[in-house]
Amino acid sequence: MNFTIENALIAIEEGYTTVDVQVVEGKIAAIAPNLDVVGTAVDGRNQLLLPGFFNAHTHSSEMWQRGIMSVLPLELWLAELYDFAPLDPEQVYLSALGTAVETLLSGGTSVVDHLVLIPGQELETIATAVKAYREVGIRAFVAPLIQDESITAGIPSGESAQTHEPYFRSTTATLELIEEAVRQFHRPDEGVNILVAPTGIQLCTDALFTGCIALSDRYNLCRHSHLLETRAQEKLAQEKYGCTAVEHLKRIGYLGDRTSLAHCVWLSDADIAILAETQSTVVHNPLSNLRLGSGIAPILKYRQTGVNVTFGCDGASSNDSQDLLEAIKIGSILHNVTDLDYQHWITPRQSVEMASLGGAKGLNLADQLGSLTVGKKADLVLYDLTSLSLLPRTDPVGLLVLGRPTNVVNRAWVNGKQIVADGKVTTINVDELRQELFNRSQWDTQRKSQTVAQIEAHYRTVMGL
Ligand SMILES: [Zn+2]
Repeated sequence: MNFTIENALIAIEEGYTTVDVQVVEGKIAAIAPNLDVVGTAVDGRNQLLLPGFFNAHTHSSEMWQRGIMSVLPLELWLAELYDFAPLDPEQVYLSALGTAVETLLSGGTSVVDHLVLIPGQELETIATAVKAYREVGIRAFVAPLIQDESITAGIPSGESAQTHEPYFRSTTATLELIEEAVRQFHRPDEGVNILVAPTGIQLCTDALFTGCIALSDRYNLCRHSHLLETRAQEKLAQEKYGCTAVEHLKRIGYLGDRTSLAHCVWLSDADIAILAETQSTVVHNPLSNLRLGSGIAPILKYRQTGVNVTFGCDGASSNDSQDLLEAIKIGSILHNVTDLDYQHWITPRQSVEMASLGGAKGLNLADQLGSLTVGKKADLVLYDLTSLSLLPRTDPVGLLVLGRPTNVVNRAWVNGKQIVADGKVTTINVDELRQELFNRSQWDTQRKSQTVAQIEAHYRTVMGL
């Protein structure tokens, strides 16, 4: 479907200008004032046009536990999460829809779903999430979350000798599963991508990482993992490898320009240099890092060292929303308290570039997505500058990033297909989705995690608490 957006405001080096944008066969065909209307005319007056953002790290099914998770650090929080995560495919479907809708309505047109798999129904889980994202029409990067060590292995041993249950599925079986998922669902031209996504050094063996590298090379897949989210993981890496996690991942060949790494809170200066040298991408999840007390990632250092940084919401039980604009705001101004030199603080325009082009780079798609450039795919968002939260008229990008924009996404397109109109997702019935989320849940304040009770004492000892 071809269309022409007329008289939209876009940001240029010297401020703003009003242009028309022609979109032909899913791509931006021209950007200039007073263009001929090709296809349908779209009124862009008093609206800000930006490239779609990337929600570059989330776990959609965590939506079912948002708001209820105890106030705990990651390792204990994770134990609680898994104690109460007996998901079924229908829930996976609904939470993927919900994640897509919230991402779209906060400016995101792409989502990287580090998808928790239902044991024994792994391919079905992936198929279900893919189905949901196809129905909504958001650009999907489904990264099936895999590991081959059991959850207690993610906590450092300290002085004690710890033994861990073997993981229920073999490394080989896990890799075969991912290869099958690639065959069945990896369709980049249709907006559905499968990533290799070992959860992180804390729960994965080298065999799993190297197996993922091989799949990534064979099928040209991006790589996605958590990295050094907590101090406990920093300690664990030293116990496991005798060096930092980043040094180890470099040694085994996991890092590169197709690799995006969520969190990256506990890296040394030498580690940061390695990320820059390997052109790896950092996905900044500021809200989750605050919620779980993980720390403040040294984002300004990354930027000064030349590491590409983009934003993610992280799963909705460690955030507890999928409001990408909120993550961008906090993830930008948070660093004003860690770095005295205000000349390095992130400006709203830089935030927008990190959220769009930064996300595209992290998925090795900077030549196709992430900016308003002729020839790139039309993943576009129009923000309504007459909405109350974007008034009065000052600096549109400044207010979008630093304000508290609500209901400001008026229209959005992915690959030239409109999926948001008049502030509403048009491809699915959102009222039905609300009803399903309501019907399948209940208000609850009384639950207790057994696993947390079992492992908390050890965690406190190891962490010196
Ligand atoms: Zn995560």
